[in-house]
Amino acid sequence: LFLPNLPTNWRGIPLGARLCKRTGRPVRVANDARVATLGEFTFGNGRRSDNLALVTLGTGIGGGLVLNGQLLLGRYGAAGELGHQTIVPDGDVCGCGNRGCLETVASGPALVAAATKALRRGRAPILKSVVAENGGVLTPREMMLAVSRGDAATAEIIETAAGYLGIGVANVVTITGVERVVLTGGLTALGKLLLDPVRLAVHERIGMFPTTRITVELSKLADRAGTLGAIAMAAGIHDAFIMKAAK
Ligand SMILES: [Zn+2]
Repeated sequence: LFLPNLPTNWRGIPLGARLCKRTGRPVRVANDARVATLGEFTFGNGRRSDNLALVTLGTGIGGGLVLNGQLLLGRYGAAGELGHQTIVPDGDVCGCGNRGCLETVASGPALVAAATKALRRGRAPILKSVVAENGGVLTPREMMLAVSRGDAATAEIIETAAGYLGIGVANVVTITGVERVVLTGGLTALGKLLLDPVRLAVHERIGMFPTTRITVELSKLADRAGTLGAIAMAAGIHDAFIMKAAK
């Protein structure tokens, strides 16, 4: 196991083998975002597409890629970590150790941190009243509510983050040629506030091939993608390549 976002005493633990021994059943271990990608590919928006990128937007930014009908895993099962591409050269330190990862500028905590800063500077009066109404709770949902009531500073924060996300997605599409990008996770509650800038970036920043057939959409499976992907994996629906990757 290699888990950059958890305390590192998990590192190198042969979890699959141990669980297999304890339960007497075959056990497969995969990253949650990769499993969710498998779920989208098997049961969700990705069904119609052999080339797919999934972006999970929540506390962190995870991802997964299906290329030519196969989930991309790489040597360590860590391929497709699109939240850890550098977006800001000298940005904040990320959980992975790098600076300025997409995750540091477009995840839920990144949005809330930017909003908190705006509140401290007195720049987001409508957000301030929304947060007060909700007993001091500030999440992307309160931010969305503030925008719907006309809070310009909060709208700008979301637009900036969504623009960064758009750059990250456009990079992924340029490199891999996926024709379908599915966004999932808590931040998708932002809806069009998030989706529109990402779609715009994809069409403006990709010049190497036509973008008319590239779709960027929100997951219809939402948080069920991971469970469904795990079922697909356990059922051996995609066995050929998963077994190959596990060797
Ligand atoms: Zn990172």
